[in-house]
Amino acid sequence: MNITHIEHLGIAVKSLEESIPYYENILGLKCYSIEEVADQKVRTAFFKVGQTKIELLEPISEESTIAKFIEKRGEGIHHLAFANQGVAEALAEVEAKGVRLIDKAPRKGAEGLNIAFLHPKSTCGVLTELCEKPE
Ligand code: ZN
Repeated sequence: MNITHIEHLGIAVKSLEESIPYYENILGLKCYSIEEVADQKVRTAFFKVGQTKIELLEPISEESTIAKFIEKRGEGIHHLAFANQGVAEALAEVEAKGVRLIDKAPRKGAEGLNIAFLHPKSTCGVLTELCEKPE
């Protein structure tokens, strides 16, 4: 593992349009990007707080894991993402230590990052994402 910082916090919301004004008008942050990640059936909105980002996740399909999360637990913090140099190596390392993986290999996430998720059953209840900028 080679974690450098918290890359972002993923927050599940029902609607970007209804949520963005809170972050912009109350917290004074600026949404700098809205991106659809078809793979995960979500639309994302990004804000920067220092070198950490906030990623709002809006489901665009009932099949989206975000839609299911909101249905079960309501809106709120969905996952914690660490910037980690060498995601593939980190996956192999933690799997060898008995951590359950959601992704056996890195895949493409929002902003072109290589990402992979660890299962919350193995991470004290926090859905954990590892991500890195591709070389
Ligand atoms: Zn994320």
